[in-house]
Amino acid sequence: MDQYDVAVIGLGVLGSAAAYYSALKSKKVIAFEQFELGHVHGSSHDTSRIVRTSNPIPEYVRLAKSAYKDWAELEKAAGQKLLTITGGVVFLPKDENSQFRDLAQTLDAENVPYELLNADEANKRWPQFNLPNNVETVYTPDTGIAHASKTVATMQFLARSKGAVIHENTRVDNVTPKSPGQGVAIETTRTGFGSDSLKRTFQASKVILTTDAWTNKLLAPLGVHIPLSIMQEQVTYFKPTDKKQDWFNPDKFPVWIWAGDKSFYGFPTYGEPTIKAGRDTSNNFMTPEQRTYVQSPELLEQLSSFMARTFPDEGRQKLRTVTCQYTITPDRQFIISPLKDHPDVILGLGAAHAFKFAPAFGRVLAELAIDGETAEDISKFGIPKVATSESKL
Ligand SMILES: Cc1cc2nc3c(=O)[nH]c(=O)nc-3n(C[C@H](O)[C@H](O)[C@H](O)COP(=O)(O)OP(=O)(O)OC[C@H]3O[C@@H](n4cnc5c(N)ncnc54)[C@H](O)[C@@H]3O)c2cc1C
Repeated sequence: MDQYDVAVIGLGVLGSAAAYYSALKSKKVIAFEQFELGHVHGSSHDTSRIVRTSNPIPEYVRLAKSAYKDWAELEKAAGQKLLTITGGVVFLPKDENSQFRDLAQTLDAENVPYELLNADEANKRWPQFNLPNNVETVYTPDTGIAHASKTVATMQFLARSKGAVIHENTRVDNVTPKSPGQGVAIETTRTGFGSDSLKRTFQASKVILTTDAWTNKLLAPLGVHIPLSIMQEQVTYFKPTDKKQDWFNPDKFPVWIWAGDKSFYGFPTYGEPTIKAGRDTSNNFMTPEQRTYVQSPELLEQLSSFMARTFPDEGRQKLRTVTCQYTITPDRQFIISPLKDHPDVILGLGAAHAFKFAPAFGRVLAELAIDGETAEDISKFGIPKVATSESKL
């Protein structure tokens, strides 16, 4: 039987990060992905994700600060640029509910540089916007964009270059911990290419579970159930009109988040002459098996109308829509924790806002698996005890 120090299950961005940072600690690492590497069935594909320290919750601000250092080291190790810093704005409509309401207060307390602008000031600074008077704008210069698929591939490449063994198209069917400290048996099936019957069992001292929407399947036999809301999300790429094309370049147009009753977000042009935008938490609930990959015309219409009001460009073209998957925990908190009754199994769940933290998230999972501790404050990120069905941020 094959014996490893660490086994990572699920190679989206968080598992790929955990595999890299575990291998970086000179441990014998194996990692499994049920689909091909870089697939589009989870949460980590496509081009861009927002990175920011701009967060109303102090624990996330601190982790984001650590993550920026990890991103810099990752870029250095890879010899690749993964982040593009553009500056970013969070729009706070005063008469709507916003989970970002305490943003400025938190940024003050955490010493994050920012500017607070009224609507006139923001419209003047970025004439692309047409903000109504009731909107406050928080600008943070450190906000930017991570290249999503390039980051995932880079981490997998680096993990392999540090000796990690990666099995793609290999589904983990069962994770069976022995008594604490005695390791875990991992039963796998090689999928696809007519090799469905190829089953193998591996042993690892520790298992890191980064299986996002599929997590409860592996936890059920261990008597653990995490209350997760899973939904299909979508983002759309728009082509600005020729007249306004330059307006949306990253040196003129920031990453933006509309933090109101409904939350929308978007990017300047990035890698191609299009701007990407989407709605956060569209509440299109499903399971990965029920996912249709079919875009919702209603969501697209909602987004287009919002954009037409907030930064008009008559004649802007909708080029393509890409679907993705959100997996949300109660209160949208991260989970970074060993299982209480099975401490050799460590769970990492990013609650649909984890990309920006990925290198730090993966490093912390590796530290928990190998060192048994981390210097980061993860006290807020335990296994949730209470089930709730609705959570937004
Ligand atoms: C449209 C969209 C926009 C987003 N925007 C942002 C943003 O701007 N900023 C930000 O920080 N975050 C953002 N996020 C969230 C972020 O992308 C996710 O939090 C992150 O990608 C989650 O990564 P993951 O590795 O946990 O999950 P996934 O990428 O889903 O990876 C889980 C992997 O586990 C594999 N797996 C599951 N079960 C098994 C098994 N039994 N055996 C083997 N493999 C298995 C799956 O196949 C999958 O590859 C966004 C997400 C979406 C969908």
